[in-house]
Amino acid sequence: MMDESHATNSGGECDETIARLYTFLDGELTADRKEKIRQHLDECSPCLEAYEFESELRTMIASKSKDRCPDELRAKVASILKHGKAF
Ligand SMILES: [Zn+2]
Repeated sequence: MMDESHATNSGGECDETIARLYTFLDGELTADRKEKIRQHLDECSPCLEAYEFESELRTMIASKSKDRCPDELRAKVASILKHGKAF
């Protein structure tokens, strides 16, 4: 009725794109499927936003785990819990 951006898409395309987003980010899709998803992201801003959010989240997690190892982080959390307060 009011959503013109989705008028050209059969609703299933969005579901499929979101369902494959993780695999797409992992780079585990065939070139054909990647192309299809890229095309859909070009046309569909809600899916593009979801993609950018996931992609940023991954970059953040990746850069954090590079900086400090999870063990160190866990030790920090454990010591905070032992002392009963954060500061
Ligand atoms: Zn979509």
